[in-house]
Amino acid sequence: MNDKQHDGGVHPSISEMYAILVGEQQGKRESIIKHLVDCPKCLEIFNSLLDMRKEAHGLDIAVPKLAGTRAHQGVLRIDTEGGKYTIIVRPSLKAAQGGVITVALAPEYQEELEGAWILLKDRKGRPLIEGRIVNGQVSQRVEEIDTIDAERFVIECK
Ligand SMILES: [Zn+2]
Repeated sequence: MNDKQHDGGVHPSISEMYAILVGEQQGKRESIIKHLVDCPKCLEIFNSLLDMRKEAHGLDIAVPKLAGTRAHQGVLRIDTEGGKYTIIVRPSLKAAQGGVITVALAPEYQEELEGAWILLKDRKGRPLIEGRIVNGQVSQRVEEIDTIDAERFVIECK
């Protein structure tokens, strides 16, 4: 593996990352997001672009910290990089393959992001929940929760 190549493909350039951040280059968006989920190096660059452009209403991407997963009685709690969100996966007690997934905002972001639109996907790009943040969270039922690739998630916020 040379420096240009990576499991998730070629590293995007800074201008490509910036373009998707501000809502341009929609054609490359999916492949770049997919790359960011698996490439900590590019994610770090992307996050620093985000910091430089706090007012951007394009795209905000959060992926879980690698060591940020806590499990308690079957419930997974996963903190994201930067500490903005917690993803909570609660398997249903009644339906073996169903459950409820919640994306909750950290208290310091609740005012800023109330009403924002959130899309949570798993590592394979499967959309899990999608909706507006109400009272600091989005929570939805998800079927076939056992087939989710829970190793990495990505949250998009607009
Ligand atoms: Zn990369």
